[in-house]
Amino acid sequence: MQTIQQLINGQFETSQSKEMIDVTNPANNEVIAKLPVSTESEIERAIACAKEAFKTWKKVPVSERARVMLRYQHLLKEHHDDIASILSKETGKTFEDAKGDVWRGIEVVEQAANVASMMMGETVENVATDIDTYSMIQPLGVCLGITPFNFPAMIPLWMFPMAVACGNTFVLKPSEQDPATPMKLAELFIEAGAPAGILNIVHGGKDQVNHLLEHEDIKAVSFVGSVPVGQHIYRTATKNMKRAQCFAGAKNHSVIMPDANKEKVLNNLVGSSVGAAGQRCMAISVAVFVGDSANWIPELAEKIGKVKPGLWDDKNAGFGPLISPQAKARVLSLIQKGKDEGASCLVDGSEFTLEGYENGNWVGPTVFAGVTANMAIYQEEIFGPVLCCMQVDTLEEALALVNANPYGNGTSIFTASGAAARYYQSNVEVGQVGINVPIPVPLPFFSFTGWKNSFYGDLHAYGKQAIRFYTETKTITARWFDDESDSGPNMTINLR
Ligand code: NAD
Repeated sequence: MQTIQQLINGQFETSQSKEMIDVTNPANNEVIAKLPVSTESEIERAIACAKEAFKTWKKVPVSERARVMLRYQHLLKEHHDDIASILSKETGKTFEDAKGDVWRGIEVVEQAANVASMMMGETVENVATDIDTYSMIQPLGVCLGITPFNFPAMIPLWMFPMAVACGNTFVLKPSEQDPATPMKLAELFIEAGAPAGILNIVHGGKDQVNHLLEHEDIKAVSFVGSVPVGQHIYRTATKNMKRAQCFAGAKNHSVIMPDANKEKVLNNLVGSSVGAAGQRCMAISVAVFVGDSANWIPELAEKIGKVKPGLWDDKNAGFGPLISPQAKARVLSLIQKGKDEGASCLVDGSEFTLEGYENGNWVGPTVFAGVTANMAIYQEEIFGPVLCCMQVDTLEEALALVNANPYGNGTSIFTASGAAARYYQSNVEVGQVGINVPIPVPLPFFSFTGWKNSFYGDLHAYGKQAIRFYTETKTITARWFDDESDSGPNMTINLR
């Protein structure tokens, strides 16, 4: 049985803790690894090593920091399939989907290798006579990342490569449900030449996170996870005078106009609703049919009903099991609530199980029609393979529905009309909008920009916003004397 290690000061070591968490295979809930919870003194040591390493790492030339990222992206690509298979086994994701999880993380590392041009300051010559002002961007110190289970490669890679490329050092507390993937990422980072103490990894849950959040040597906190935990982390981090960016839950709507291409709409909705068992923060969980497009609901349900859940290495599987028995119980209770509240369950996956894997966290694809805004299946993030179909008469009504929703992570509109798309993109109160693109996750030269209850903070993940999040700006106003003349003391605030 594998025991998951932690990483402190460049050394992979087994925690001295007696407290263990089981890491399970979601397909049958067999224990596949033991995760010792890091002790308080180990967490202290990780922070102290990161603080010490910062003293030298911040002075390493930016091009050398970038070269670590170049070597890292090369190694990640070389080990792409190994990481994906570790990831599949502990999350249940299909191998193809796991490869996507790894790849979208590699793209951020590629961007981190471009750090020098993103860290350029600005200069204005002669802000007053013979006086120039210029700015420079400097790292903060020790940064902290707390990551969720659903993207164990991509989301850690949203964080530490950008922070470290800027000259910071990092402590990562990955999800306790799938820690082997981030440990593999760390192994390759060390192999890429990251000096000791630049990246440290400790394990655990609530208590360990709270200890980290209270620590005065942590300067910035990046979190991705559920709404209640995100709110708690944002409040605690800011109360402790830290900078924070907290990405939280979602309820993403797709608006379907009657002039859209029907085949493309249906195929796009299948993948974006039940792909990854609906455990994506950008999954489409609500399809809003405008006018006559509602006639397509039965055909959509039929297509979704044909998607087969299966094991990670089954090439015909559309998606895998949910992460845990608790996640499954939650999804089943919401499906039951949907039925009780009067939605029409066109496809019911609540009885699904995979032969030979009856102990797994299986839920089949599920489609509800006739969903209304007061129902629990609309109001709560289900985080399972469940699509809610709603009907409205006009685009204005669809927009009002989406804007009244407290979440604002992603949305999409399917239409052949540029005017309708433009109206929607301008007026929708959601941070990431797809036009005939169901899951509009921006590539890393942009930033991941959720709004409302899907994000607490100011500066978002990766891209230029991450550079600003992980740095301070310093402005320097400079004059060099080239003569002996002097006009006496300046008693005003003006430069002269
Ligand atoms: P979670 O909130 O349960 O856990 C996230 C992290 O917080 C884990 O590392 C966990 O150990 C830690 N944690 C859990 N409870 C805590 C507590 N009480 N105090 C301090 N730390 C705690 O989330 P999850 O179930 O791992 O992930 C799924 C959620 O993440 C969904 O809500 C999903 O929408 C969201 N998510 C959002 C985005 C985004 O970009 N907005 C991306 C991925 C996932």
